[in-house]
Amino acid sequence: MLMAILAWLHNAYGRDLIDGIRAALPGEEIREWPDAGNPDEIDICIIFRMPHGFLKPFTNLRLMSATGAGIDHYLLDPDFPKGIRMVRIVDHDFASRMADYVLTWTLFHHRDVPHFLGAQQRRAWAYKIMRSARDVRVGVMGLGQMGRLAAERLAGIGYDTAAWSRSPHEVRGVTCFAGQEQFPAFLHRTEILINLLPLTTTTRAILSAPTFAQMPQESVVISAGRGGHLVEADLLDALHSGQLRAATIDAFPVEPLPEESPLWSTPNLYITPHCSSTASLETIVDTFAENVRRFRAGEALLNEVDTIAGY
Ligand code: NDP
Repeated sequence: MLMAILAWLHNAYGRDLIDGIRAALPGEEIREWPDAGNPDEIDICIIFRMPHGFLKPFTNLRLMSATGAGIDHYLLDPDFPKGIRMVRIVDHDFASRMADYVLTWTLFHHRDVPHFLGAQQRRAWAYKIMRSARDVRVGVMGLGQMGRLAAERLAGIGYDTAAWSRSPHEVRGVTCFAGQEQFPAFLHRTEILINLLPLTTTTRAILSAPTFAQMPQESVVISAGRGGHLVEADLLDALHSGQLRAATIDAFPVEPLPEESPLWSTPNLYITPHCSSTASLETIVDTFAENVRRFRAGEALLNEVDTIAGY
């Protein structure tokens, strides 16, 4: 019987994650890349990131676990093996950290923090009337684990909140839009747009000129999705023209963002290094261990991904 797990986890937790998995799965043989041994003996893997083609030699692989919410980077591999089941991390604390990020930057832009930071530098008493949250129309793209909690929290502190998803949803206090046909109406009413979509063939390049043009003049974009959602040149144009007043971007097409990128020095563009949320060490270990147990027992898996839909 094949009974080995391959772990390749050069993420922020490094060795602690490997040690945690070994401790949680004492009955399993855990092999750590690059000491994979005979690749035919591996049937489960947990991988943070991998180069294209990496999984090709593992001909008996049956289950793959991500260490986070997104799985787009694995599916983009043209050599990704067919028929592998894939699981990801879904967890309230993980989503709550993302909601913290969304609230931080929504308040930052709504309350125009840069205005006051700049004024203080000039020793200027630059009084400004602040709009009430109830008059600020925020819109969240994506109503999954991340988008739903963020939308609920935004509505909870009083923002006029809407959300947009693929299929219809109901969320208390949130005006819900669904499908491509309702996207324009969602954009027309949204002055702070928050991207919490997965990267799929239909959402790629969604943060681009046609989307920005449908939002009110001087809108704001906050993106904690994926770099593939963003067309950088269109973002720069929209910021320069004033179509967008400001943006906060957490994920970029090339990461780390190259030192020579013009984005670093673009006025009103705020950059964070793909850190909007991270699942806790305990959550990753416990979820993975439970999925390994379920897989071995032939039970339904936690958080299984629809690899056809791409999320
Ligand atoms: P989920 O799979 O739980 O939810 C995805 C949501 O997006 C669903 O509501 C889905 O609609 C909606 N959606 C998918 N495709 C479309 C489409 N074509 N049009 C409209 N809506 C669509 O994802 P999570 O909430 O777990 O995560 C979302 C993304 O957030 C991740 O894929 C990742 O890219 C990003 N992320 C980034 C992090 C970071 O550190 N920067 C950390 C964690 C996540 P429906 O409900 O109808 O299916």
